[in-house]
Amino acid sequence: MTEARIAIIGGGLAGLYAAYRLDRLGVAFDLFEARNRLGGRILATESGGFDLGPSWFWPDFQPRMHALVTELGLPVFEQYTAGATMLEDRAVGVVRRAGYLSGNTSMRVEGGTCELVAALTDLLPPAHLHLSAALKAASLDGQAIRLVFADTPDPSQTYTHIWLALPPRLAAGIQFSPSLPERDLQMLMAVPTWMAAHAKYVAHYGKPFWREAGLSGDAFSRIGPLTEIHDAGNEKGAALFGFFGINAAQRTGLTASEVKAACRAQLMRLFGEQAADPVEDAFYDWAADPYTATDQDRVSSGEHGALDAGFVFAALWRDKMRLIGSEAAVEQGGYMEGALAAVDRVLAEMNLAAVDQPR
Ligand SMILES: Cc1cc2nc3c(=O)[nH]c(=O)nc-3n(C[C@H](O)[C@H](O)[C@H](O)COP(=O)(O)OP(=O)(O)OC[C@H]3O[C@@H](n4cnc5c(N)ncnc54)[C@H](O)[C@@H]3O)c2cc1C
Repeated sequence: MTEARIAIIGGGLAGLYAAYRLDRLGVAFDLFEARNRLGGRILATESGGFDLGPSWFWPDFQPRMHALVTELGLPVFEQYTAGATMLEDRAVGVVRRAGYLSGNTSMRVEGGTCELVAALTDLLPPAHLHLSAALKAASLDGQAIRLVFADTPDPSQTYTHIWLALPPRLAAGIQFSPSLPERDLQMLMAVPTWMAAHAKYVAHYGKPFWREAGLSGDAFSRIGPLTEIHDAGNEKGAALFGFFGINAAQRTGLTASEVKAACRAQLMRLFGEQAADPVEDAFYDWAADPYTATDQDRVSSGEHGALDAGFVFAALWRDKMRLIGSEAAVEQGGYMEGALAAVDRVLAEMNLAAVDQPR
């Protein structure tokens, strides 16, 4: 493995974690990310660091996430849930109900999940992180892998292995030579990308006025546009966020300012007049982002994607290429924990896990 040179495709949590582990092992790698930023589905508002992608992890059953934030020294805190819950539907209008406790404690990273991306990035050699590099094609030339990018000069460097830190459906869109058999493509396309059909709205406020009114910030609505709302506050400020009840096709017909206005009107119905004037509000539609969602993903299956546990690429690619994105995990597929699990699995398969000792 000392001669290995690994091309990691994708700079979301899976790609960054893989790079972190390989760097500590002294294994050569280059990471190529299509967007002009790292983090993938992990994204925050420009001010405040409020999450537009994932917020929560659950240490009770996600040991890797717990271990990683601990290893990186990132402070974490419990999701705010104290107080009453608001409900609305067309029959009864808006009602206030006693809050309830869900079984598992949802934890968040101080400053937002983007702090996890920043902490990993800080530990990586910048010369090996390549942004705005969307992989278009990969070919096998004997034992060497050559890469072709959409808008970036192709590297003269070749690689011994390629690790696809991507949702499987996006991996299926890359041109491989020799080409992947139909069976592989079908298996990749069958895996839905978790949360790719969704969008998130965040409203940042000067103070948590709902908490002062004895409300948790949790709300559930059958009217919309938001279906589920929670407190999104962190040490930088007060905020509420919501997931949408209207689907990706319905959102396409609306401008961002129409969507935001409808969300503010709903927050006013649920939490009162003070919700009308956020310091800033933001909306991100993951279904409209081609580096997350394919056409199939725009209709939510509601299922966590997980690749068949025994999946390996066929024929010549078998020993050369691995999937390490979250949807490739055997357990917790689709979650951040899944991204770490998928990487750990490949490291173990390549006999790298046991020799990785903290520096
Ligand atoms: C709104 C929302 C809420 C969520 N909430 C939670 C939560 O609370 N808890 C939780 O655990 N998980 C949650 N998730 C899921 C979580 O975000 C993912 O499990 C995790 O971020 C996946 O990381 P990944 O690296 O596997 O994939 P991604 O983050 O999707 O990274 C893939 C990367 O590959 C890049 N890429 C794509 N195509 C190419 C190409 N051709 N060439 C080069 N690069 C390419 C992309 O730009 C991207 O950066 C949520 C997701 C969303 C969208």
